[in-house]
Amino acid sequence: MSSSFEIFPTTGTVYLVGAGPGDPELLTLKARRLLGEADAIVHDYLVAPEILALARPDAERFFVGKKGGGFCCPQTQIDETLVRLAREGKTVVRLKGGDPFVFGRGGEEAEALADAAIPFEIVPGVTAALAAAAYAGIPLTHRAHSSAVVFLTGHEDPNKPDAAIRWEDYGRLGATLCIYMGMKNLETITRRLQVGGLASDTPAAVIQSATTGGHRQLLAPVGEIAQRSEHAGFGAPAIVVIGEVAALADKLAWFDAARPAGITA
Ligand code: SAH
Repeated sequence: MSSSFEIFPTTGTVYLVGAGPGDPELLTLKARRLLGEADAIVHDYLVAPEILALARPDAERFFVGKKGGGFCCPQTQIDETLVRLAREGKTVVRLKGGDPFVFGRGGEEAEALADAAIPFEIVPGVTAALAAAAYAGIPLTHRAHSSAVVFLTGHEDPNKPDAAIRWEDYGRLGATLCIYMGMKNLETITRRLQVGGLASDTPAAVIQSATTGGHRQLLAPVGEIAQRSEHAGFGAPAIVVIGEVAALADKLAWFDAARPAGITA
């Protein structure tokens, strides 16, 4: 006779886990523990192979990658996969680059889980802007230079008449601006910031593949950063940091991308 447990498995929990920006050592201890426990891992492209290697060898894996804003799987399909796996009684880790609640659609996935009455937890991760700035030697706040930080997405078409981000307004904030997914539209974004009042000689930095072996960075005045980074072949994934603090990278850059990184245990 089969037990009712087999017929109606207890609903599993879904953990929306931030995997950090790339360097596996920036993973939280909690993320590492959950990876070792999960029956199923659902991940996207920004997650490093060294991190995925921490999963149980017998864990089911689902790649639902999105690259450069393009889709591999519609969001509804990802939501359905999470709900289905949890209903099968599995412990699920939904692993996302950086932090799940910063431009990671973690909010939408958590809503889908809440709507389906699936238990879930959120495990924060080191978001790309914090990691890129730290590894580039840019303090996002500094008593002499900046008292506020803004995270923005540059993915949205800045020429859309109903665009949510009014870039001109951010040109007058005096805050450090951190732009995710901004490379494609960088020319328009930086022009609109200057139209809004941002001085064209304001320091800016582009940091690509921050914290990884492919880490590279470029400093230039905001009036030149789009053109110079394009000429130098910069592209996604990259964070653009704009503000006086960016100039400190000249003095504080410390990271050597050639240095081996990774968890050895
Ligand atoms: N949830 C993620 C962001 C996902 S959006 C987080 O919290 O970091 C994807 C964008 O994040 C990329 O286009 C890029 O702008 C940024 N990004 C992610 N990893 C990065 C890295 N290692 N270096 C620079 N930018 C990165």
